[in-house]
Amino acid sequence: MKIMSINCGSSSLKFKLFEMPQEEVITEGQFERIGFKEMGIYKIKFNGTKDEMSLELPDHSVAAKHLLKDLIDRKIIGSLDEIKGVGHRIVQGGKYFSGSCLVNEWVKERITELIDLAPLHNGPHIIGIKAFEEALPNVKQTVVFDTAFHQSMDPESFMYAVPYEWYEKYGIRKYGAHGTSHQYVSQEYARLTNKDIKNLKIVTCHIGNGASLCAIEGGKCKDTSMGLTPLEGIPMGTRSGNIDPTVVSYICQKENKDAWTVVQELNKKSGYLGVSGVSNDARDLEAAYNNGNERAKLALHMQEKRIADYIGSYYVLMKGIDAIVFTAGIGENSASMRRRVLERLDILGVKLDEAKNKERGDSRRISTSDSKVDVWVIPTNEELVIARDTMKLITE
Ligand code: AMP
Repeated sequence: MKIMSINCGSSSLKFKLFEMPQEEVITEGQFERIGFKEMGIYKIKFNGTKDEMSLELPDHSVAAKHLLKDLIDRKIIGSLDEIKGVGHRIVQGGKYFSGSCLVNEWVKERITELIDLAPLHNGPHIIGIKAFEEALPNVKQTVVFDTAFHQSMDPESFMYAVPYEWYEKYGIRKYGAHGTSHQYVSQEYARLTNKDIKNLKIVTCHIGNGASLCAIEGGKCKDTSMGLTPLEGIPMGTRSGNIDPTVVSYICQKENKDAWTVVQELNKKSGYLGVSGVSNDARDLEAAYNNGNERAKLALHMQEKRIADYIGSYYVLMKGIDAIVFTAGIGENSASMRRRVLERLDILGVKLDEAKNKERGDSRRISTSDSKVDVWVIPTNEELVIARDTMKLITE
């Protein structure tokens, strides 16, 4: 059975086609610069080859139709009937969704209602769903939410200590993000170590350009570092993470800006980029750090300190930690970041195996056998979770 995983951004559409239940990737790729005046870009990988071309991409619907036609033209599929389900990644599910579900009118209305909470994401997601409804009218579609896994948090974790009416009227609370990734790598950890997730206390560290941590007890999220939006938590590539909100009104006053503009700067011009002035890319920062750039060093150390702070607080919250799992672009690839974070966790009895930490490859343990906390690197695979959930929902 062929299942398509889709992730629509404001000007992009990423796809991965799986053969299920074998979980084999048949093809994958993306459309970029959708809706731009200039030509858009289409990239596809198939059978070990990569192809890239430019084409007019006025909207997501044109991209969806082009993709389906191209799959047939390249004989990747014989006919559209082979695609049995399309699963969409949705960033914000608010209070409505604690799991994946089939798309219907009510689901689309709720995702639309939540656009205010995730304007850069939920809008494009709805456009993507409609594009595939149009292109594949007889195929079931599903939605998989980044926030769903975090719906198990207790109120004391998800509430902000602000006027309660803000929560009642506007849904102001912590929703978290990267839920699919946190759930996947925690389950993978249990599978790879032959342990029952019900007995485990795990901290997952999804450290990419966006970055968040999650405290997972018995397979359920107890707390996570991102908040109402992905701005909360640790410093990231371009996001500040936690700051005193008074900074916003102060900068508005000093620089004659409005709050939205300043919040955009906290989202897009802060974090690694803002502190270092070098780049939002961890590789550039590491290189600058190694060349003695003090601000690059500061930017990296600020993030590492906050990661360790969160792990310390989750240790208290769960009364212990069995395992720490690193994932995403930086978490999977940066041995130096992992080392520097883990050095800060000496007090928890964490012991790093330096040689294993430097090895590259797939899922692996990087702690020593006498470490009190098991530390692993596990590549995330959000698209696979989408395909698995989609297969389950359309066959139920
Ligand atoms: P993601 O958002 O998960 O795609 O992660 C993007 C981040 O991963 C960027 O900051 C990259 O610099 C970082 N990254 C990718 N490969 C490496 C690597 N080999 N070493 C360090 N950082 C890396």
